Amino acid sequence: MIVAFIIFDHQKSAFMHCDLMSKIRLFTFQYGSIYFNNTINFIINQMFKPQMIENEKEFYCLNKHLQPCSMVLLDQKIEKKQRLWCNECLQNFQADSKIVGLKLIIQNIEEVIKKMQVPQMILLQNTVQKIKLCITSAQDLKTYFMKLFDSIIRTAEDWILNLQAQRQKFNQYSFYDELDDHINKQNRNFESHIKLINNINRSDNKVIKYLSLIQLEQRQIKLVIIL
Ligand SMILES: [Zn+2]
Repeated sequence: MIVAFIIFDHQKSAFMHCDLMSKIRLFTFQYGSIYFNNTINFIINQMFKPQMIENEKEFYCLNKHLQPCSMVLLDQKIEKKQRLWCNECLQNFQADSKIVGLKLIIQNIEEVIKKMQVPQMILLQNTVQKIKLCITSAQDLKTYFMKLFDSIIRTAEDWILNLQAQRQKFNQYSFYDELDDHINKQNRNFESHIKLINNINRSDNKVIKYLSLIQLEQRQIKLVIIL
């Protein structure tokens, strides 16, 4: 069960390994079984095992003996792909520089890489956490602006309806009131007309202010995106 869980987690995300290792160590501490310790150490080693890009089976010596290479010449003067020797090379040639086993040098290289992996993963995990925080903040800001712009659009639409309703109302008149105005030489309709014009003018001023605010916000958002 634990094995299945570890393998699944490994496939899911590399930067979770540090946390996963603490869980595994806690598990082995609690259950203290040699079998589990060995199994888990094996799995951890597999998880952190560096992967060689080249295929070791395709390593051939400079002399093209077509035999598996077993030795490496530690000589910086030799071209990097010509430092491998097979057993036949070893028997027929003499080297001025130090020769070491291929398996041993691979083991040393992988040990160095393994030691660097944990700090790398911790650094990566911290950076990923910060990026996630950045995503959450951007999503919150997006939600805030969506709500704000929805509210502005709704208010503006209501505004249009209200102005149109006022204009519609101006077209309607009461015969009795108009007759009364006519007899009394009053012009309430004219007063109403002035009131409507003033309302439209006030709305127009508000719209200009509103527009400049929206344009300012647009410029600030563009600036944030550029930064
Ligand atoms: Zn050879």
